[in-house]
Amino acid sequence: MQRYLLRNSMDNKYDLLINGKYRPAESGEYFRVTNPATGEPVAECALANVTDTRAALQAAHDAFQNWSRTQARARCDLMHAAAAIFRQRINNIAPLLTIEQGKPLKDSLKELNFTADVVDYYAEEARRNFGFHFEGDGAPTHSFTLRQPMGVVAAITPWNFPVDLLAWKVGPALAVGCTMVIKPPSEAPLAVSEFIRCFVDAGLPAGVLNVVTGPGHTVGAEMVTNPLSRKIAFTGATATGLWIAQEAAKQLKPVTLELGGSAPFIAFRDAEVELAASQALRRAFSHAGQICISVNRIFVQEEIADVFTTKFVEMARKLRVANGLEVPDADLGPMISEAGRQTVREHVSDAVVKGAQILTGGHEPEGAAYAKGFFYLPTVLTNVTADMRVMREETFGPVAPITTFKTIDEGIDKANNSPYGLAAYVFTNDLNLAMYAAERVQAGGVGINVNDITDIRGPFGGMKMSGIGRELGQQGLDTYTEWKHVRVMIKKPE
Ligand code: NAD
Repeated sequence: MQRYLLRNSMDNKYDLLINGKYRPAESGEYFRVTNPATGEPVAECALANVTDTRAALQAAHDAFQNWSRTQARARCDLMHAAAAIFRQRINNIAPLLTIEQGKPLKDSLKELNFTADVVDYYAEEARRNFGFHFEGDGAPTHSFTLRQPMGVVAAITPWNFPVDLLAWKVGPALAVGCTMVIKPPSEAPLAVSEFIRCFVDAGLPAGVLNVVTGPGHTVGAEMVTNPLSRKIAFTGATATGLWIAQEAAKQLKPVTLELGGSAPFIAFRDAEVELAASQALRRAFSHAGQICISVNRIFVQEEIADVFTTKFVEMARKLRVANGLEVPDADLGPMISEAGRQTVREHVSDAVVKGAQILTGGHEPEGAAYAKGFFYLPTVLTNVTADMRVMREETFGPVAPITTFKTIDEGIDKANNSPYGLAAYVFTNDLNLAMYAAERVQAGGVGINVNDITDIRGPFGGMKMSGIGRELGQQGLDTYTEWKHVRVMIKKPE
């Protein structure tokens, strides 16, 4: 087995990080991480249980007393130091992310560079965690606010952007003085472990960040239900998020839930068709459609529907599907698992049974290079209707259904006909129409003539069944603090 790992250990095993020490799980067991492009084993990871998880929560709880009182400047310096170490290692960690997760190497590099940027951004925000002051209204008082860290954060993350989405939590939580227990996804826990190792190597005090790898229904559930965690930061499927919300509510624990999506892409008749088609294509198929803000439903105004669809299909046929380590700039790699690919097959066949037409794709690529991985071709469907699973559920695969609309309001209504509300994309050259649509589309983020709604400085999150709360930007910092109002009576001195 080729070694991509940075660790000194010769046995290719990843251990838990609890209270500043790397150690095996209590059970001594490990689980295997495999490469979704080849099916080959990559490494083994300690299989934590509830006892390990409790130890991690206790360590984070104990470390909170000191870390929360550290000077903001010290937290800032430490985070910058960790980001600098991480940047030095990115070229080594990126192949590891590709082989455990499947995304092409160029996309791994992009994810990891953004991760470093997020840590540096929140390192600076540690110094700007400001409250405010006001004078009494009818009484001689001064009031000011403190923004205090909530306590131990339970951070639970998915496999599609395992490092980046964790950084969205680690950055702000550390910046305000929280400590954390982290449960990476079992499919892709390795690059995450290397990311956290950079904080350890930068001198982070023991117990501030703890990593427990293992199943969601034991490790993750303990992190949610144990009273020692005081905030749940979760990114993952809506079904999991619903369960977490219910459990957290029993202890009134605050939650940030970044859940599933089914992003609409609306191209109005005055849109630049070439631009719209290429932007929709990239956002529909990159990462094999396994992005929460992937374009899932395409609505094109009738006047441009034929030309849009022709261009879209032409471009989709040219996309390069490959093992992203062998072809670093491939357009898409494999899907994460056979289960994920099976969902795609079922959604496509449900659509076809209900009358959809496959314009390209609709099956796995052929050839020896694809035989052992979970590859699926970029697939374009037309004649789709609102009752099809591809239009109602999150397919989370490389499938782009295209349908049409006549009027502006019909296009917006069709886009809003979904339980989800994470991202939406609007393409038009009419400023007034862009604003009209941006106001009415039910989504936490709207891209106008752009296919990405992510900027470190802007809030990211969903409406409806796509979640609660926001990450990134100032809002991402707020979510880890309690506001405390301190009111001081001023008397004339004796
Ligand atoms: P998932 O919900 O199956 O798993 C996410 C994490 O939760 C994993 O670490 C898993 O082990 C853990 N988990 C599972 N059951 C748990 C439980 N009972 N208690 C606590 N933790 C538990 O999701 P996934 O398949 O890894 O990720 C794909 C989903 O994530 C998609 O729906 C996608 O849209 C969503 N996602 C959302 C965003 C966003 O920002 N809104 C970003 C990326 C992915």
